[in-house]
Amino acid sequence: MRADILFPINAEAFTYLIPEDLESKIKAGSRVLAPFRRGKKVGIVQSTQHRIQNSDLKKIKLKSIDSVLDDEPLVPEKLLKLIQWVGQYYMSASGLALKNAVPSAFFTGKKAGKSRIVYDEEIKEAKALDLTAEQINALSEINSTDKGVFLLHGVTGSGKTEIYIRAIKALPPDREAIVLVPEIAITAQMIDRFRVNFGDSVVFYHSGLSIGERITQWRKMRDGEVKVVIGVRSAVFAPFNNLGLIVIDEEQEASYKQFEGLRYNARDTALARAQLEGIKIILGSATPSMEAYYNAKNGKIRYLELTKRIEQRPLPGVDIIDMTKEEKQTFSLSNKLLNALKENLGNNYQSLIMLNRRGYSPFFMCTDCGHTYKCPACSITLIYHKDTNTLNCHYCGSYLNPQEMCPTCKGTRIKYLGTGTQRTEEEICSLMPGLAFKRMDKDTTQKKLSHYRIIKQMEEKKIDVLLGTQMVAKGHDFPNVTLSAVISADIALNMPDFRSAERALQLFTQLAGRAGRGEVPGRAYIQTYEPEHYVFDYVRGHDYKGFYEKEIELRKELSYPPFSRLLRIIFSFKTRDSADKTVKVISNRIRKMNPPSSHISKGGIEILGPSPAPIEKIRNLWRWHIILKGKNAKALRQAAAVILDKIKDVKEMKIDIDVDPINML
Ligand code: ADP
Ligand code: ZN
Repeated sequence: MRADILFPINAEAFTYLIPEDLESKIKAGSRVLAPFRRGKKVGIVQSTQHRIQNSDLKKIKLKSIDSVLDDEPLVPEKLLKLIQWVGQYYMSASGLALKNAVPSAFFTGKKAGKSRIVYDEEIKEAKALDLTAEQINALSEINSTDKGVFLLHGVTGSGKTEIYIRAIKALPPDREAIVLVPEIAITAQMIDRFRVNFGDSVVFYHSGLSIGERITQWRKMRDGEVKVVIGVRSAVFAPFNNLGLIVIDEEQEASYKQFEGLRYNARDTALARAQLEGIKIILGSATPSMEAYYNAKNGKIRYLELTKRIEQRPLPGVDIIDMTKEEKQTFSLSNKLLNALKENLGNNYQSLIMLNRRGYSPFFMCTDCGHTYKCPACSITLIYHKDTNTLNCHYCGSYLNPQEMCPTCKGTRIKYLGTGTQRTEEEICSLMPGLAFKRMDKDTTQKKLSHYRIIKQMEEKKIDVLLGTQMVAKGHDFPNVTLSAVISADIALNMPDFRSAERALQLFTQLAGRAGRGEVPGRAYIQTYEPEHYVFDYVRGHDYKGFYEKEIELRKELSYPPFSRLLRIIFSFKTRDSADKTVKVISNRIRKMNPPSSHISKGGIEILGPSPAPIEKIRNLWRWHIILKGKNAKALRQAAAVILDKIKDVKEMKIDIDVDPINML
């Protein structure tokens, strides 16, 4: 017999012979050791076949598998199918998909250590809640079937999490569930609620786990010892054998997409898995992606709606603060917001403020000649960080030390323009002395559990004002927060991306939704220099549907998703010269491709580019891209394959393929 073996490398499966004494032990999913190049490698058996003809064996001399490493297959067969689907759909090697799906320790032979408990709190007892009428309706729809896709569209604080929990409890006893969340650390409260309900039969799966923890969790899932996994992206590959339900919380989140290596989207992979396994899946959101809502409206997926907050609590009123007119004493705070903060503090309530940019100042500029500091490796302006007194690149992580003197004109009048979380922190703390203040951004949350501690302190009301990047906007349920605010809304509005309005609406709605979740109604303040932007009309009225109707027209006009699909091919070069030369060659070859014969709506494919990527240089690589637009995903992949084939002999460049890109930078 022979076996096709997949290794966790950028390649498809390799064929080996199965020695006779191993025939009964080797199955699809078995972990085996096999000779590879000059050494040996651990891989997973993708499939086994009986020898068809003796004769064809003679032609190629196959190597034999050395040994089998486990008694039972490590990877469930259905998961293997998913891995192959991912490889194919994302135009990547199945080996790379395997590498993302299975903990690396299984291939390196590192031994599992003892598993530590990540969240060390005691498990409290579950509150008995009476579901609202809307919750009952949604739940009974979900429970009435064992397959299909649901969009659970519920305003912030409408009790979506409760529905996830009950839907899992209603599964047959032998069925398991995957719950995907955008970021595990900021989902601490949700995790607590799952622990309360599922005790030790829920596990957490995320990048913060040690090698040992990862292996332990994996085995528990595969052996059916746990019922639920909560995790980020890679938990979509949880090795359950008897999956019954997948939940994707905040399905619209960009963090479900991996931006490097295998560029897969865990939401779409989950949809594929649900289909492959014939099970049900819930996409939950307060502000669904345009794609999901479009599919729901067209009856492709089932739509469930929670229109009200629990206890009929009102959604917060939203104030759009026009920063071109508003008075202010400091760089980033309008008097209006400052007064509201003071009043809220006086009433002993908590406030949550988002400023989606970390560091102190995004422009460190010489006022004599206008010089700003750029990263030497990236086409990105450096951001000044005051605590470290460095100018940091948020793309490649490199930094410079700022000089007293301008390197261009030797001037000494250096100015900090714009604001980041550090500067706003300084301002708030100086204007409100004695304030119990915390900042939550990537710089203050490097240590394990640091998010969790901040969230606990918020819950225990030890913090008056919490300021942070988008991580403060998401998912938290603090009943004592009655004020939420956005400092510089313009950052989100001005991204060079056709989804920027959608993203901005989602972010502002989420942030606003943190206020007034308890008994006292809340209020949200959004500071902007562009108050006429159409997004604000809908944020003000919590009018997702109104926004959708407006935005969908724009998408239709420009044939953007959901009216088309996109595929992006990114080329990276070591020098600008080789970029310029090679791009010419690529352009010529592509121009010779048959021109698209029909419009996108009729199945045609549009090829845009090659053009320089909006961020032209990252980590010393010059970047260009081609964007393919078309109606049909398969046709798009075929067109991309034709392009790749036409340029397969072109050297000295790196090619990345991004199917369904959501970051065009
Ligand atoms: P969402 O996920 O939609 O933002 P949550 O599920 O976090 O909302 O619910 C908001 C709050 O309401 C939570 O504190 C939750 O425990 C509580 N809650 C949910 N359902 C009910 C209910 N039926 N009765 C009372 N409280 C509820
Ligand atoms: Zn850089």
